[in-house]
Amino acid sequence: MTAIRQKNVTAAQWTANGSAVEPTDLTKEENVVFGSNVFSIKTQKERLPADVFDRLQGTLEKGEALDTELADAVAEAMKDWALENGATHYTHVFQPLTGLTAEKHDSFFRPTSDGGSIAKFKGGELIQGEPDASSFPTGGIRATFEARGYTAWDPTSPAFLLENPNGTLLCIPTAFASWTGEALDAKIPLLRSMDALSISAVKALKLLGDEETVRVFTTVGPEQEYFLVDEQYYYERPDLVTTGRTLFGAQPPKGHELDDHYFGSIPERVLACMMDTERELVKLGVPVKTRHNEVAPGQYEIAPIYENSNVGSDHQQLTMQIMQNIARNYGLICLLHEKPFAGVNGSGKHNNWSMGTDGGHNLMDPGDTPAENASFLFFCTAVIQAVNKHQGLLRASVANIGQDHRLGANEAPPAIISIFLGAELDKAFESILSGEGDGKTEEAVLGLGTPVLPPLPLDGGDRNRTSPFAFTGNKFEFRALGSSMSLAFPNTVLNTIVAEAIDELADKLKAELDSGKDIGEAVGEVVKESYGANRQIIFGGDGYSEEWHAEAESRGLKNLRTTPDALPEVISDSTVAAFENYNVLSRRELEARFEVWVEQYAMNANIEAETAATIARTQIIPAVAKHLILLDDADADLLEKESRGLFDQLVDKTLALEDANQYPDGIEEEGLELAVYARDKQLAAMHEVREVADKLERIVSDNYWPLPKYSEMMFIK
Ligand code: ADP
Ligand code: MG
Repeated sequence: MTAIRQKNVTAAQWTANGSAVEPTDLTKEENVVFGSNVFSIKTQKERLPADVFDRLQGTLEKGEALDTELADAVAEAMKDWALENGATHYTHVFQPLTGLTAEKHDSFFRPTSDGGSIAKFKGGELIQGEPDASSFPTGGIRATFEARGYTAWDPTSPAFLLENPNGTLLCIPTAFASWTGEALDAKIPLLRSMDALSISAVKALKLLGDEETVRVFTTVGPEQEYFLVDEQYYYERPDLVTTGRTLFGAQPPKGHELDDHYFGSIPERVLACMMDTERELVKLGVPVKTRHNEVAPGQYEIAPIYENSNVGSDHQQLTMQIMQNIARNYGLICLLHEKPFAGVNGSGKHNNWSMGTDGGHNLMDPGDTPAENASFLFFCTAVIQAVNKHQGLLRASVANIGQDHRLGANEAPPAIISIFLGAELDKAFESILSGEGDGKTEEAVLGLGTPVLPPLPLDGGDRNRTSPFAFTGNKFEFRALGSSMSLAFPNTVLNTIVAEAIDELADKLKAELDSGKDIGEAVGEVVKESYGANRQIIFGGDGYSEEWHAEAESRGLKNLRTTPDALPEVISDSTVAAFENYNVLSRRELEARFEVWVEQYAMNANIEAETAATIARTQIIPAVAKHLILLDDADADLLEKESRGLFDQLVDKTLALEDANQYPDGIEEEGLELAVYARDKQLAAMHEVREVADKLERIVSDNYWPLPKYSEMMFIK
């Protein structure tokens, strides 16, 4: 048996050990582990002196800074709780501009003069850290002579304990800024955008007759797709290890994927891994809810119950980390890349988004009374206006190199942003626009007899899987996020642009109300005008089709196919205006992000291109050469001629790729020019190498082929 076949057998023989999750009686409260590793409000209440607890909650509610005395008291309680649970170290966890999570660990213990040690944790240490941050990308914001960065505790996202087989770590969610106060992370702009939206929405709610709401929260519920592959295959594939995706690999036999059913039963080993992952997440207070198989073989999904955008975003980072860690215990690798396998469904992350009041009312819920109905139509119209105006920015917010293989690849939403409302909501908006309600809408005539506000469907009912931005009953689902992405920036964008649209519409609403119209009529006027001006973004048909590309173009919608096409939207005039106006990101902070992301793209493209060249030269070419000798020995002239032709092409294409990997003289070694070069020259040359190599995979002796094949990686589990 060949080495790789031997690995297949081993992979197939894996059995769940069944030890991780013990059977317990879950009707008993002490057996329920939800949040057991979280310094939650419940834990705080148990641990903090009553007056300290009350002051802390009060400070948080008002969004004020903590004074030293209060911080010391909280730090003390947090430290004792952590030590009792075996934590030796603490860390401020933050999200630098790479979109990943960063941490630096410090011990609680310090030596005493008598040779012993003591555990100390001061308020100052809780509130602020000073990581040696010079190695994090800053997009030019921080020169090395001012290399200090600060992390600041985010008390609105609870601290938690991360368990490792050899110890426990107290993790403190933090923001990361330069010493001049510029945001160097993903959390600060998200928090700023949540504030901006809250202020705008509360103001609009007042006009709509809601005097009670003090704060509006944006909510997020992500649906995360991922692949699991046996780790033996992974480590045999330098491309997977280095780039997260396969740079070579022929398609498995047609129809093979039908063996694996969407929503079919989950293989035992995979289920064991999922359950263990969920148990860990639940301990960390992540409200995971749903698990199932996804469309592609070896692909799955995990989804939590929604939370406010900040906590949901932190929890999502944690979820990705825990998924990857736990998979290793099951001999699996969790692939979060957007497109690990060419020609096979990629992985996305559906970002369910809504706004809710502090009183628990979901503003995206159509409701069944006219008042709710007017409020819903107002806010829904704001979303439509925002998405239309900033369609390019939304596209840019989900751009990365992996996404370039996925968006528009007949399985994921296209790179064109459009909104699906569903037939009933379409009808409602169209009837407002035309002013001609049908029989059904007349029943809902409001106020002075304008047939403006028709009854709305309680449930979105129909679904459209091909839309990048779909209304799904009581929330919008932004489906274009990539599986490896942080939720922070796309939600920062959504919150900011919707805040802007709410304010624009609120001004008009106020003018209508001042002119003596009642709320129903006034909202009707505002909706009519805005919807009429923005309805080009509404599309209910098949987003995957060629016709849609043509129609979108004739409607003037943007089609930003690749990351280098999309990223300039991050610094476009309309983006800068909105972000500066709402104090979410300054021009300089936006430019920093643009620079970092462009550089990341060029760097990742270069890593892919160099990895592909190395695999071709050191693994595939030698394998084909051996195969040629085999055929020659056997006097198999016809087959030898066929293989020889492809071999020569492979050599040519590989040399061309190696050429492309040398940056030409005179090219800027950073910035958009390099990103465009990487896309048009390096990735294009790489694609040509792959085309020939994949043909060879089908004819070269299996004994010699150096890489595990798609059908092995995806089907053996
Ligand atoms: P469906 O996909 O069928 O609409 P669910 O209600 O299960 O059904 O929701 C799917 C996802 O949407 C879940 O991840 C959930 O957390 C999220 N979600 C539901 N309501 C909201 C909301 N108000 N805000 C943000 N996300 C939400
Ligand atoms: Mg969904």
